[in-house]
Amino acid sequence: MSTQYNIREYILDAIFPKKCLGCKKFDTWLCNDCQKNLPLRTEQQCPICTSVVTPEGTTCLSCLRSGQTDLDGVFVASIYSDPLLKKIIHAYKYRFLRDLSEPLALLLAQSLQNSHMQAPDIIMSVPLHPRRLRWRGFNQSHLLAQDLDLTIPLKTDVLVRSRFTKSQAKKAKKSHRINNLKNAFHVKDSNEVRQKNILLVDDIVTTTTTLQECAKALKKSDAKTVSGLVLARE
Ligand SMILES: [Zn+2]
Ligand SMILES: [Zn+2]
Repeated sequence: MSTQYNIREYILDAIFPKKCLGCKKFDTWLCNDCQKNLPLRTEQQCPICTSVVTPEGTTCLSCLRSGQTDLDGVFVASIYSDPLLKKIIHAYKYRFLRDLSEPLALLLAQSLQNSHMQAPDIIMSVPLHPRRLRWRGFNQSHLLAQDLDLTIPLKTDVLVRSRFTKSQAKKAKKSHRINNLKNAFHVKDSNEVRQKNILLVDDIVTTTTTLQECAKALKKSDAKTVSGLVLARE
């Protein structure tokens, strides 16, 4: 039993007995058969305009040339509209079923196996706001990156999310989200990222604003390339 197993998980286990989210088989949140049935994405697109098919989801030339993004690409493993995947991601993030990071990381690994992506120098995960981390008890992107278990160095404490002031956090409704994210990230030690090719793991993306803000901070510290790796795009 992990030392991080907390009272909330005991309670959840009692209320929701462990059953496969796919076939309802007991004693697992996701059985091997249902894991194997999760779809892998066969085509990748430019993450910025989403209208151009690009190899491994690299940012297309015209989006790069527009100078409006520091993000070099986003590789999307699976398909958000798949009902089971949607259910798993939701359970992982909002029912706090942290054990699901293993099958989800396996899905990331399987999709990378089918790709021709260049190996990065370092892997990072999108940091959570400290308040959000306290609420969830774990960083879902960090766990995914950890369970991906590649032999590439994993750095999860170099990129940090600055704490918002109380009033800003209260205002963080949709319309303020983009403004609140502006300069929300910074690099603690530039030596760790200088001239490095970085792969940034996150669970799902919607607008890629978060990944783009991370990329901006990393490139300010002279990172060479910054690409994302995510389970699905909403
Ligand atoms: Zn199953
Ligand atoms: Zn584009």
